[in-house]
Amino acid sequence: MRQKQVVLDINTLIRKNILNMKPYSSARDEFNGKADIYLDANENPFPSSYNRYPDPLQFQVKEEICRYEGIKSSQLFLGNGSDEAIDLLIRAFCEPNKDSILVTEPTYGMYRICAEVNAVNVQHILLTHDFDLDLDTFLKSVTNSTKIVFLCSPNNPTGKLLGRERIEAVLKQFNGLVVIDEAYIDFASSKSFLEALSTYSNLVVLRTFSKAWGLAGLRLGLCFASEEIIAVLNKIKHPYNISSTTQELALEALKNRVTKENWVKEVVQERDRLTIELKSLPQVQHVFPSDANFILVRVTDAHRVYNYLMTQGIIVRNRSSVALCFNCLRITVGTHKENKRLIQAIKEL
Ligand SMILES: *Cc1c(COP(=O)(O)O)cnc(C)c1O
Repeated sequence: MRQKQVVLDINTLIRKNILNMKPYSSARDEFNGKADIYLDANENPFPSSYNRYPDPLQFQVKEEICRYEGIKSSQLFLGNGSDEAIDLLIRAFCEPNKDSILVTEPTYGMYRICAEVNAVNVQHILLTHDFDLDLDTFLKSVTNSTKIVFLCSPNNPTGKLLGRERIEAVLKQFNGLVVIDEAYIDFASSKSFLEALSTYSNLVVLRTFSKAWGLAGLRLGLCFASEEIIAVLNKIKHPYNISSTTQELALEALKNRVTKENWVKEVVQERDRLTIELKSLPQVQHVFPSDANFILVRVTDAHRVYNYLMTQGIIVRNRSSVALCFNCLRITVGTHKENKRLIQAIKEL
């Protein structure tokens, strides 16, 4: 732990085997220009829409995203969902049976799963009772083996943003990667950490097409970081990790930004309306304020409400067994009609 601002030397953080390996070089890596006849990748020569391998580095999609965000496309990695980026970050920087990641409790489950699959230790710190980061606990919990800290903001399942100053304190003081998962940032009032990329060499920002963009079925996740960190992810990813269809559909969605923005507006409106309605129900003890597209609700008996809703054909997520979430349901904001049915069903209970 250093008090001075961290300037990360990626080569000392990365696993030695990955630093030293020579990456796979695909046909499309070795020649990526235009030609008349391609006889280099053992593809089927007969015309069909998908007889050719996709662009391994997704040049067009990255250009389109980065032009909008004002970031160099060499600072963006695209994955098969953000889950791929989470997995690759852990595999690139954490030595199995030796290094650790640090996560908050509660948070998104995939950080822990990816670590466990890779035999990487998981350290965890409990959030405060109002679901924020406790800096003292954080500083006390970090050890020399901690390579990556995962901060989900707005957090899943709490729905709350972590304090900006607290995240900045972690970025300044932690001598490893700080991954901020912004899967729900479109629904939040606070701005993204993307623009802090030029200030913090240890910052990694995750985004996804799965929530606000309405493309969970597509599987496309974004990871922004320094050129050095992105180069490491590109070095170890599977050569053709994003299919041609995914790249085409993502480009189409990006040209329709207004649609996404309208969806977000409507979801935020519904979320705020749903929050008020839920508060008026006798079965509801507390509605936690949300910066996301879901609401965490403490009810008198989560099991009972969950099971009753299921009999009414409405599925929510029971988070009762999660730290700090006793008797809590996580409810995704639906359409106006769906939300009305939800409220009606809880009233009938
Ligand atoms: C839904 C979600 C994601 C999205 O993961 P994908 O693999 O991109 O679908 C990432 N992080 C958090 C915290 C989420 O809740």
